[in-house]
Amino acid sequence: MSYDKIEVPDSGQKIEVEDEENDEISVPDEPIIPIIHGDGIGTDVGPAAQRVLNAAAQATGREISWMRAYAGESARERYGEDVNLPDETVEAVREHRVAIKGPLTTPVGAGFRSLNVALRQTLDLFANVRPTYYLDGVPSPMKAPGEMNMVTFRENTEDVYAGIEWEHDTDEVEQVREFVEDEMGFDETMHDGPIGIGLKPISEKGSKRLVRRAIDYALEHDREKVTLVHKGNIMKFTEGQFGTWGMEVANEEYPDDEVFAAPDSLWEEQDEVDIPEDAVVIEERLADAMLQWMQLRTDEFDVLAMPNLNGDYLSDAAGAQIGGLGIAPGGNFGKARMLAEPVHGSAPKRAGQNMANPTALILSGRLMFDYLDWDEAADLLRDAVEETISAGKVTYDLERQLDDAEKLGTREYADEIIGNIEKLS
Ligand code: NAP
Repeated sequence: MSYDKIEVPDSGQKIEVEDEENDEISVPDEPIIPIIHGDGIGTDVGPAAQRVLNAAAQATGREISWMRAYAGESARERYGEDVNLPDETVEAVREHRVAIKGPLTTPVGAGFRSLNVALRQTLDLFANVRPTYYLDGVPSPMKAPGEMNMVTFRENTEDVYAGIEWEHDTDEVEQVREFVEDEMGFDETMHDGPIGIGLKPISEKGSKRLVRRAIDYALEHDREKVTLVHKGNIMKFTEGQFGTWGMEVANEEYPDDEVFAAPDSLWEEQDEVDIPEDAVVIEERLADAMLQWMQLRTDEFDVLAMPNLNGDYLSDAAGAQIGGLGIAPGGNFGKARMLAEPVHGSAPKRAGQNMANPTALILSGRLMFDYLDWDEAADLLRDAVEETISAGKVTYDLERQLDDAEKLGTREYADEIIGNIEKLS
């Protein structure tokens, strides 16, 4: 495909699909990878992370051909005031299979829809994955932050995020109210007067593919347990059914000695259950209880798989235990495609000041390297970031929580990490 404003690199090859159903790609020696720096602090952390990723790739004998693509503010500047997400940006991410992006601003209330949600839905990136692990030297409110080593799988396409909702005092909302009260018989459930109504679709397809992805991840990465987190005691036919469908995947699609679905795990202690040695255990937990266990019994949890809203809350809460937004990486996965992006947003008040912490974007790049099977480069990134932080060289967000740390700008912090990459490789 030919592009208009996207900078197509002179060299490099496309990542190809090997087996879409089984999420297999074939990575060339010098893959072309689209990169969107993003809005706000994206203009600081985007270029800094790009340099660090280059250094880690090159130190391990790899090369990336970057393809600069635009969305948000940078797209409006180039394509016109109304163009927030150009078709060719979506096309570049679609065509090249693996991409990385910084944060994009979404105005609250009015204005355009979230570009992030649009990208995830258009490309059917159905699993949002956030590894949450502790790096030495990072300030944490926890007594034993090192116990945190979880990976959250959040369903990315449905639940209350599907966007099916109606505003109060519109004809549409009154039609829905009438249908629910008169036809479905919920005539004493909703309060009189203005009301907003939303739908919460949870499908077999959406639930099963997410849980399947979490189980496959656990098997590939030698994890011990996948916990399905939902609020099925209250929302039986949506959240509860998510759990039931998830357990069906475990029971029906994998041999018991590889993946063991714990019986009645919501209500029963599992001490007496005979679990096959080395099997990944699949269990269910209620979301409210899970929020406290995550803090009080951190080391008991491993991989979590959740519907969209639970995943949003729980992954942020998990991130807070190991240093917060400046550190927390993420990625969105579809079938044989991946879009790496940090958990944080565009933090407008910190934008353009060479202040923001690029770690979250750098570690999102680590997740991307992991997907490319560039294990050596992925490990080197983690080690170099950890070495930098534990030497007390950090950006403002961590420096204000530490006693003897040196505060660095975004660029200078990236330089330190690159220095450590060179030292460690
Ligand atoms: P935010 O941008 O994540 O920032 C909230 C606060 O977190 C910042 O003010 C800053 O705290 C801290 N922070 C975030 N990233 C940081 C970093 N890299 N380094 C250091 N500190 C960091 O959340 P928001 O203010 O709610 O959202 C702003 C915009 O971003 C909104 O338009 C929102 O829709 C969008 N957003 C986009 C994405 C995405 O692109 N995936 C995700 C979330 C939000 P201090 O002020 O204490 O320094």
